[in-house]
Amino acid sequence: MKKLMLFSIVVVMILLMGMGAAELSERLHGDRAPSYGPAAGPPATGAAPELPAPVKEQDWRLRIVSEAQPLEEGFSVETEEAENCYLFDTRAAQALRDFLAAGRAAGMDLEVASAWRDWATQETLFEDKVERVMAETGLGREQAEEIAADEVARPGTSEHQLGLAVDINSNDYPWLDEGWADTEEAAWLEANCAEYGFILRYPPDKSDITGIVWEPWHFRYVGREAAVYIMENGLCLEEYAAGLA
Ligand SMILES: [Zn+2]
Repeated sequence: MKKLMLFSIVVVMILLMGMGAAELSERLHGDRAPSYGPAAGPPATGAAPELPAPVKEQDWRLRIVSEAQPLEEGFSVETEEAENCYLFDTRAAQALRDFLAAGRAAGMDLEVASAWRDWATQETLFEDKVERVMAETGLGREQAEEIAADEVARPGTSEHQLGLAVDINSNDYPWLDEGWADTEEAAWLEANCAEYGFILRYPPDKSDITGIVWEPWHFRYVGREAAVYIMENGLCLEEYAAGLA
């Protein structure tokens, strides 16, 4: 009987140690970009779309940044120049270059108007807007901040800080407003973005979910597989992410 008890204790301890090791391993690898495709087998060739990640909510490409889900203060990401001094997440910079190059090859006049923004830049943009609102309306700071936040994201709540968002317009139409949607460039971008892993992030019919007005110039990198699914099904990123949970 004693032997049996001792045996049981040893088995339980081994199980507990095993679980601890698994958890530790997960923590060690949690920051890495997930790998795709079968674990074993020949390396992927050609342009086959990526397979779903095993744990999608941890996929860096699908991270949602919004008023409700702000970035932690001091968030930073490795960036590189994607175009004309505009920086982008290093892991997605080539996709942006390919997207722009394909559009230009199709005869489109495309200009990057904004890409990655660091925390300080977003803070300055927001602060400038708050001060303008205060000067124009005579309102106090708190109220002015609320009005400003409708048009300029508070620091930590703009997905430009992720390095995965890009605003695109053209030399002929160098503004960021709804009129951009009537250009052939905007139509091309919307029709072809998914092929390069990008989505129209703030569509007109999803404002109640995204919390952001229609922005026909703002594209977000999410990876090709998610982008194709989102654009083909007329979803926004929040709906896609909720479907994965
Ligand atoms: Zn934008």
